Amino acid sequence: MTAQVPMLIDGEFIQSASADKQDVVNPATQAVIAQVPFSTPEEIDAAVAGAKAAFMEWRNTPVPQRARLMLRYQQLLKEHQKEIAEILAEDNGKNLEDAMGDVWRGIEVVEHACNVPSLLMGETVENVANGVDTYSLVQPLGVTLGITPFNFPAMIPLWMYPMAVACGNAMILKPSEQVPMATVRLLELFQQAGAPKGIVQMVHGGKAQVDQLINHPDIVATSFVGSVPVAEHVYRSTTNLLKRSQCFAGAKNHMVVMPDADKETVMNTLVGATVGAAGQRCMAISVIVFVGETIEWAGELAERLKSIRPGVWNDPDAAYGPLVSKAAKARVEQLIQSGIDQGATCVLDGRDIRIEGYPDGNWVGPTLFTDVNTEMDIYREEIFGPVVCCVSADSLDHALQIVNDSPYGNGTSIFTTSGVNARRYQHDVQVGQVGVNIPIPVPLPFFSFTGWKKSFMGDLHAYGKQAVRFYTETKTVTAAWKETKVSAPNMSIALK
Ligand code: NAD
Repeated sequence: MTAQVPMLIDGEFIQSASADKQDVVNPATQAVIAQVPFSTPEEIDAAVAGAKAAFMEWRNTPVPQRARLMLRYQQLLKEHQKEIAEILAEDNGKNLEDAMGDVWRGIEVVEHACNVPSLLMGETVENVANGVDTYSLVQPLGVTLGITPFNFPAMIPLWMYPMAVACGNAMILKPSEQVPMATVRLLELFQQAGAPKGIVQMVHGGKAQVDQLINHPDIVATSFVGSVPVAEHVYRSTTNLLKRSQCFAGAKNHMVVMPDADKETVMNTLVGATVGAAGQRCMAISVIVFVGETIEWAGELAERLKSIRPGVWNDPDAAYGPLVSKAAKARVEQLIQSGIDQGATCVLDGRDIRIEGYPDGNWVGPTLFTDVNTEMDIYREEIFGPVVCCVSADSLDHALQIVNDSPYGNGTSIFTTSGVNARRYQHDVQVGQVGVNIPIPVPLPFFSFTGWKKSFMGDLHAYGKQAVRFYTETKTVTAAWKETKVSAPNMSIALK
């Protein structure tokens, strides 16, 4: 019998009573790994009620104790990094190197959460009036919600609950129903590290479960990562209820190649940055803007891409894995066809790739288009596959105009040996994360993950100092402690 993915409620991994289930599938073989149940409304209510009760105690737990939980957790995650990577490689499909990176980038957030005593420091001004002081307290919110996508099964849950919990909150986590396996292991280790019962609860499902959660009166803040349409739905619904919300969404990341760039550096970085993880990264480079004669480099890039292939997660020669589902593969293939139909030149077409021994995998080989214009579907849509679009620009100004006209603003990079070009680009580009001679500029967790425009809805971003502000409320106290004369003869008391 196929195993069923458990929920985590009040410290116990329990089975859902739901009859509504979905298969969790290995995307390289189509083997069914497990079934994920879509939690019932009663189970979701119980999860929220348990989290609320846990929060009432946890909010009073001394901050250094919360930090120590994160220190123990960080150690356990490091010890189990490879095991977690292998679990997520099975349902997500990414190769071991990428899977190890997925876990590692999450561990770094836990390391950041270990700093929570310093991060929670408020401000004080003594003597705002005679004998009066004003200071701020930074307090947790209550029961928060985390909804995660399929493409980083470890890192993105770890963006959320370590920061939320370190700040004193509880969290309900709803992992992607396509890849729930790693989250179970992450939370087993969190329990082992000493997390109090109920402080993170895990339920499963899709739209109906997300809608119940975001509308639940006891959930006060939502962190969401996923596609643009769902992010818009979650952001509109939560903010309409006057709740705090941060929604990270889709992307179309441009890399600008200047004529003075070092060609070898560009070529060496582009292969991994474009088709790594099968292009299923929100920071993948999907558009290369070649300035001037550098458009000639596209042919050499195609040659390099031709020499790599996808494969199963533990194949050391595979550059990346399959797409997550048959539906994702069909969508990417249809977009490739649209590129051809709309007049782009398909220099490299990865649609007919076969991987020996894995005839049923969701494989798409590296694909490269030139002669792409900004009206084409392959330019306008987030393809989320190993497909590279090459665009020409006459100058840095022209490149900036192309990038700034894109509705997305997650990440971008410029390759140049000119400090003047680099500075101009970083200053004028309307994108939240900029790389200079770095293709995928994901900040380490002491900064925040700062996507802009359609790639992010909200005010405060993930991790860094902004996550602390997102998961806390500021209380400002103005206090007067003055010596008070009381009527008793010859007695004055200082109020305590
Ligand atoms: P998705 O939007 O399909 O799913 C994300 C989550 O929303 C899942 O937990 C899913 O169960 C839930 N969901 C799906 N449909 C829903 C609906 N109609 N109503 C309510 N909830 C719903 O996204 P995905 O395909 O899992 O992930 C890929 C997307 O995530 C890409 O667009 C990628 O760019 C984006 N992403 C963005 C970032 C970022 O930081 N900006 C990071 C990673 C991924």
